Amino acid sequence: MISFCLRLEVMFVKQLFEIDCDPQCGFMVRSHDKSETVEAAMKHVKDAHGKEVSQEDTEKMVKSV
Ligand SMILES: [Zn+2]
Repeated sequence: MISFCLRLEVMFVKQLFEIDCDPQCGFMVRSHDKSETVEAAMKHVKDAHGKEVSQEDTEKMVKSV
């Protein structure tokens, strides 16, 4: 039972969210926190590409790793 609990915990800790920009840009953000990933990606698109993206659209780009 203890090992089962520990394994669940490890799986949770290893859960990562990732957003990739286009390959030419090469920007990639990874975080354990989904909203943090989305925020960082939105900031990147604004700063590096001068584009505004909605939080909803950015959330669609999130991949679980
Ligand atoms: Zn980019």
